[in-house]
Amino acid sequence: MQDCIFCKIANGEIKSNIVYEDEDMIIFPDIHPQAKIHLLAVPKAHYPLISDVDDANLLGRMLSKISSLSEQLGLSSGYRIQINQKGKLGNYAGQEVMHLHIHILGGQKL
Ligand code: 5GP
Ligand code: ZN
Repeated sequence: MQDCIFCKIANGEIKSNIVYEDEDMIIFPDIHPQAKIHLLAVPKAHYPLISDVDDANLLGRMLSKISSLSEQLGLSSGYRIQINQKGKLGNYAGQEVMHLHIHILGGQKL
């Protein structure tokens, strides 16, 4: 997808400190961290919204992988997962980047 910042990070066009990568997704630090550890898990395929995902198991695979990586990501004391979703009629959740991403927050008491 042209002009999508997360597609560009996923395909290496924009450099980021990728901490994990597999065939489904990449994980990298959020540029404006809201916690001591703030990572974004981003599918390599471009889906603007959850409702656009046509691979029924993708989110399950991503969440399972995040869970199994939690210790090596420094999240042994727990973490919070968040997805902001833009709606048809508004953007109450404030989704800024229209490429599905899972926020992973931790490294401190939230
Ligand atoms: P949203 O509000 O869409 O759920 O979250 C988008 C997140 O992406 C924000 O937390 C923002 O800081 C992060 N972000 C936006 N542009 C970039 C970027 O170019 N690089 C990185 N690493 N994070 C970004
Ligand atoms: Zn994209």
